[in-house]
Amino acid sequence: MDYILTSDNISKQYKHVKAVDSVSLHVPKGAIYGFIGRNGAGKTTTLKIFSGLASPTSGSFTVFGCNGDELRRKNMFSRIGILIENPGLYLDMSAYDNLRMKCLYAGIKDKNYINELLSLVGLDGAGRRPTRNFSLGMKQRLGIAIALVGNPEILFLDEPINGLDPQGIAEIRETIVRLNKEKGLTIIISSHILEELSKVATNYGIINNGKLIAELTAEELSSRCESRIVFKLFDVQSACNMLNSMGITRFKVVDPGTVHVFERLDQIAQIGMALAKADILISGMWIESAGIEEFFFNMTGGVHNA
Ligand code: ATP
Repeated sequence: MDYILTSDNISKQYKHVKAVDSVSLHVPKGAIYGFIGRNGAGKTTTLKIFSGLASPTSGSFTVFGCNGDELRRKNMFSRIGILIENPGLYLDMSAYDNLRMKCLYAGIKDKNYINELLSLVGLDGAGRRPTRNFSLGMKQRLGIAIALVGNPEILFLDEPINGLDPQGIAEIRETIVRLNKEKGLTIIISSHILEELSKVATNYGIINNGKLIAELTAEELSSRCESRIVFKLFDVQSACNMLNSMGITRFKVVDPGTVHVFERLDQIAQIGMALAKADILISGMWIESAGIEEFFFNMTGGVHNA
């Protein structure tokens, strides 16, 4: 796997708080990586470390194969676009002028470049309007455009959908997918709402109390969340043979006494009967459907904080 960003046990200790605790992340090149955690879990601090805005107390990380020192020495943090906390806009200025200012700092004078960025984030028609009148979603998209100045290869977006209405969230989602597909950008988005990220993310890291508690692909997440029949049995091997003989192939032995069956959920009684007729004792059977948010709450200790 070609990883654009990795970390090896990074930690960040503030005076009384361990904000990040031995986090080892792996972000594949070209991924939309959902970095999920409740408020205060350590997402912002982790992203600040990867952007060079904070130093880890211990551990190391690489972006583009370079460690923190090399990134600094070779001025490679400029290949990372960041929108952390809020866009920091000049509200009396237009979107165009906000972008122009960032371009001037970056030594870019091409007017077309600014218009292209506005169009990339869906603000083509709004470039000349003062940003004071922008919706929160438009401000966030302008913040993304500003983070894109200099053509970064990786983009960090910290809670970009916080406080947005459904339309604003959908527009940010569209923008993220467009940047990923059209520009090939690797994007790390932090959020406390797994459900929203699940519509775009290809990979996930779940952080809780500073610790990375899971890293999984979108396929792994959906299989973990898929509805299933749970069978509690005494003889799992015979049950598997029986399921195979019934033509059931999508099942998984979860532990020595549990089998999950992912198909024919409407035939739970018939499957149970067939197992019983084959003298396979069942101590429990039920249908379990774990939604994505439920999965997240279970992973993070069951505290609802959306
Ligand atoms: P949020 O979404 O609320 O920003 P987060 O997951 O991004 O949450 P962080 O902002 O990284 O979490 O904070 C993690 C912990 O570190 C929190 O307990 C926070 O109070 C603490 N923390 C963050 N920055 C500092 C700092 N500069 N000094 C002391 N403690 C800090």
